[in-house]
Amino acid sequence: MAPMNPTEEAISLIRKSNRIAALSGAGISTEAGVPDFRGPDGLWRDPNILNQLSATGFRQDPARFYSSSMNLFSTIAAAKPTPAHNLLVLLEKLGKLQAVVTQNIDGLHHAAGSSTVFEVHGTYRTGHCPQCSDFFEMGPFYKKIESGDIQVPLCKKCNVPVKPDIVLFEELLPQDAWNGAVNAMEQCDLLLVLGSSLVIYPAAELPSIALGCGARLVIVNLQETAYDRAAIVVRDKLGNFAKSAMAALVYKN
Ligand code: ZN
Repeated sequence: MAPMNPTEEAISLIRKSNRIAALSGAGISTEAGVPDFRGPDGLWRDPNILNQLSATGFRQDPARFYSSSMNLFSTIAAAKPTPAHNLLVLLEKLGKLQAVVTQNIDGLHHAAGSSTVFEVHGTYRTGHCPQCSDFFEMGPFYKKIESGDIQVPLCKKCNVPVKPDIVLFEELLPQDAWNGAVNAMEQCDLLLVLGSSLVIYPAAELPSIALGCGARLVIVNLQETAYDRAAIVVRDKLGNFAKSAMAALVYKN
């Protein structure tokens, strides 16, 4: 028998695993056309933008926060889930995957149909009033900002700007999502890392929890990561890997 290539090894491991957790990073969304705004060359590394999009920047000038963010939010709103998102939905349907942990704020895992998703950097889709904590769907607000009807979404009760549920600079991670992510790492028998270089906190730490609890590790990423030596590494586009994996799992399971 010919030796397996990394993709075949990864698929073989997926077949043997029944408590898979996935950790997705910017790479899964860049394949959907969403820019890597937090990455090394990302928009959010620009010190001016960073200042505007920090928690302080939001408090000081929410209108500027929203005008700086709308380009990104509009791009996200137009994005569609990719084959890699769909692979995770399939794994959940097959009863193999228990949770998706994502660094992305775009809600594409929900859009694809994944049901257990821990968004450790929050989501742009929902927001809260900083004063009364009322919950808002942000989509209608974004449409009004784009059309120029409003500059800032306001909580009608408190007359203060509503903040999207994105983790801004200077903010802590949402506790529920973080606890869910840690739990997913502790419970899984295989951690599938998709499109994360595992550099940005907390993604840099999560795989060590899974490895410490005895899980295997598969990394599909174009760049090297600090965990490559502990993993089966597939150095390919996520779309290619996802299509191969879905074909293998659907037809030969
Ligand atoms: Zn309020």
